[in-house]
Amino acid sequence: MGARKRDFISRLTRRQLIELEACVRCGACFEACVVQEATGDREVSPPAKIASYRRFVDASHGVRALLGKRPSGEEVERFLEALYACTTCGGCGEVCEVGIDTQRLWWAMRRELVEMGYSAPGTLPKLLENARRNRSIFASPLELRYRIWLPPEVKPAEEAELCYFEGCGVAWEAPPMAEAAVRLLHAANIEFTLLEASHAWCCGWPLAVAGMWELQQELVENNITKLEERGVTTLAVSCPCCLQQVREVWRSCAGGLPFEVVHITQVLAPAVEEGRLRFSRRRRERVTYHDPCQLTRGFRGPGVYEEPRTLIQHLPGVELVELDRSGRLTRCCGAGGGIRGARPEVALEIGKLFLRSAARTGAETLLMNCPACYAMYVARRLPGQHGEEWRAFRSPVRCNDLLQYAASFL
Ligand code: SF4
Ligand code: SF4
Repeated sequence: MGARKRDFISRLTRRQLIELEACVRCGACFEACVVQEATGDREVSPPAKIASYRRFVDASHGVRALLGKRPSGEEVERFLEALYACTTCGGCGEVCEVGIDTQRLWWAMRRELVEMGYSAPGTLPKLLENARRNRSIFASPLELRYRIWLPPEVKPAEEAELCYFEGCGVAWEAPPMAEAAVRLLHAANIEFTLLEASHAWCCGWPLAVAGMWELQQELVENNITKLEERGVTTLAVSCPCCLQQVREVWRSCAGGLPFEVVHITQVLAPAVEEGRLRFSRRRRERVTYHDPCQLTRGFRGPGVYEEPRTLIQHLPGVELVELDRSGRLTRCCGAGGGIRGARPEVALEIGKLFLRSAARTGAETLLMNCPACYAMYVARRLPGQHGEEWRAFRSPVRCNDLLQYAASFL
């Protein structure tokens, strides 16, 4: 692989280069990190990753570069294993003593290394192959999406100010999430539209988080153009990663957003509070709720904590108990950041720890709010032999999607 003048640094901002120097190896982030909890492997810890990368930068651009001490391909390949043994949940950055924005730092490192010619590990390159062909990270044709989850009694408007965008993760990995979302919108008498099935391309998040940015601009431009053509003023998404992607990446790629973007619970919670959405069934049940990482700390500004809880509190007979970690300090469930594709054995161990933490609350049901959580916890999907072990793992807690659960009270 030929060396480039700006290897290791071209995708890092000035601030991120300073962050590489700022880590004091205090270890405060160890407790927040589910990968550390599951593996205890300090080689994949935030300070170890930062130190390795700093060595690469020094060796490529400092005095060591003049001495011909550039990092070898094998060293970088070893580092890649650590870099992708991570859910990019941002838990470490939340508690970092010196304020390193680790989540965005991992993203930048991944992008840089992929653009240098290294490959994202495991099954991740397949996502890009699919997206090149299909404009979705899944192999199934986009045209089929609404046939899978749109219930016949719900009729989206041709045009409306509000557009519901389920995203390809929900469409193919967690279609009941989308079905429940539109059933609740329908029950609340909220008019909404959908993009034409073949016009709603992947939001780009699963590719960006894996470091594979080649299609980003095209995906963003298509989606924004198609939404503008429909006169949409508010985009409501089910997937926390879509929310992060639209707020952060779409905004920066397009130089601004011509509409507001919200999470679907931010549309439904006010409807419940104002009495436009009512739940008629009653069920005595104790539930707990998992704050998805990207819904709480995935973007700058306040996360979405209150609205999911508002919905739960209005379900007749339901009692909400909190997990030991919630809100901005939420524990990652182990399904995100590409780790299921790159390191499924780590995802499996995080999953077991997560279900044990849910069981400690005494809740009968664990409510999730993210298609990656859904795929791993409700559908119990993990690649290969890890999937078998995961499905065999018993827990006293049932897992369900928040909106699917709420819709069962209509
Ligand atoms: S982003 Fe999450 S999984 Fe990755 S190192 Fe930080 S806390 Fe651990
Ligand atoms: S908390 Fe921050 S400064 Fe401390 S070891 Fe972790 S990344 Fe480094």
